[in-house]
Amino acid sequence: MAFDSLTEKLQNIFKNLRSKGRLTEDDVKEALKEIKRALLAADVSFKVVKDFIKNVQERAVGQDVMNGLNPGQMVIKIVNEELVKLMGSETTEIKLQPGSAVTVIMMAGLQGAGKTTTTAKLAGKYKLKGKKPLLVACDVYRPAAIKQLQVNGEKQGVEVFSMGENHRPANIAKAALEHAQKNGNNIVILDTAGRLHIDEDMMAELQEIKETVTVHQTILVIDAMTGQDAVNVAADFNNKIGIDGVIITKLDGDTRGGAALSVKAVTGKPILYVGMGEKLSDLEQFYPDRMASRILGMGDVLTLIEKAEAQIDDEKARQMSQKLKKAQFDYEDFLESTQQMKNMGGLSNIMNMLPGISGMGGMGKKGMQINEEQTELAEKSMARMEAMIYSMTPEERRNPDLMNPSRKHRIAKGAGVDISEVNRMVKQFENMKKMMKKMGNMGGKKGKFRLPF
Ligand code: GDP
Repeated sequence: MAFDSLTEKLQNIFKNLRSKGRLTEDDVKEALKEIKRALLAADVSFKVVKDFIKNVQERAVGQDVMNGLNPGQMVIKIVNEELVKLMGSETTEIKLQPGSAVTVIMMAGLQGAGKTTTTAKLAGKYKLKGKKPLLVACDVYRPAAIKQLQVNGEKQGVEVFSMGENHRPANIAKAALEHAQKNGNNIVILDTAGRLHIDEDMMAELQEIKETVTVHQTILVIDAMTGQDAVNVAADFNNKIGIDGVIITKLDGDTRGGAALSVKAVTGKPILYVGMGEKLSDLEQFYPDRMASRILGMGDVLTLIEKAEAQIDDEKARQMSQKLKKAQFDYEDFLESTQQMKNMGGLSNIMNMLPGISGMGGMGKKGMQINEEQTELAEKSMARMEAMIYSMTPEERRNPDLMNPSRKHRIAKGAGVDISEVNRMVKQFENMKKMMKKMGNMGGKKGKFRLPF
């Protein structure tokens, strides 16, 4: 689909960033330069790209890196949020008139953009929602367009109003509205004529319709395949007749997709739906956040970031980091942190997220190269450790120094394991405490990591 190439490029840029763990100002500058190039190659308009990069850079400067993320992930988080903002942040619905009042929607666009198909798709959606839409054939220049609307309307089980080719579109719209009022149709969708290029006649015709009937929503259909032209068309339509929103078609195709990223910034009008195929069911509501994660192609990382945001309570993390530094980490803390790890998707995910972990080659050659098998083993042993900790008394959990042979025997019995396993656990716990202490110290005084610029 659209954005494949952009996604691939962004993934490589971010992979590079993440592998570094700790970033220098130059790393980030270079990455932003590459993101800029990738967006331009995807046909995002130059001004939009420039502003976008500026926003990301401004936000990245002096930003504290959130607990639970490394600087590379922090940059991904910012890029993702700026992409969402660029596409309008919120999902926008087509505004319908309240109660049983009729809503008139005028569809506009250049010939071939997908206007007639989209008009029928939209009517089908309203029918599914229990509305009674009426499709109106206002394209009087192409008999084939009237026929096409009738065929598509029939497929959707939606009524089509047509007066043939010998009437002014504005008069057809007026008659259709009267028909709708009589027949209980609560949504009237006007399929207007498109031209190959924007011209005065087309604009005058749309204007005349607007002056003849009350149009509540004017929706422009643009073709993603036409790249920046699509955005210029949108700006032109908006200046000349005023639009309320945009539907972008053919995003399923092999297009560079830049229109989806530029149109809101250029026109100020939201994207309402996107066409993802020729079938009548292939019209999708537009969600800026979902589209951004589709573009980044990093659903997994973004989910982790979300979870980190939801799970990591700054105050708790601060207290924990104090304990770590003072080596006061006890079995209670261990239980709590395993619980938090589980909430965040397990040890394997966490290892990726721990600040600086991939840059910890310095911890020794045996060190911190973590593969899947090892994390699986670690997860299993963590579960057994949990069972043993549950067999301890609260005092033992809070004071690891109380541990002695008779207590260890009791714990082994309670957890149904051999005493040697309890011994191993106590040793592992001590090792882990040491490791955590090292990590805690990496956080500096504030227990936070800063982007280095
Ligand atoms: P109009 O001239 O603007 O009314 O355009 P049409 O509705 O006739 O559509 C032109 C062509 O684009 C038709 O072959 C449609 O099937 C196709 N089309 C419309 N929307 C989409 C879409 O979202 N994806 C794909 N792949 N094709 C589409």
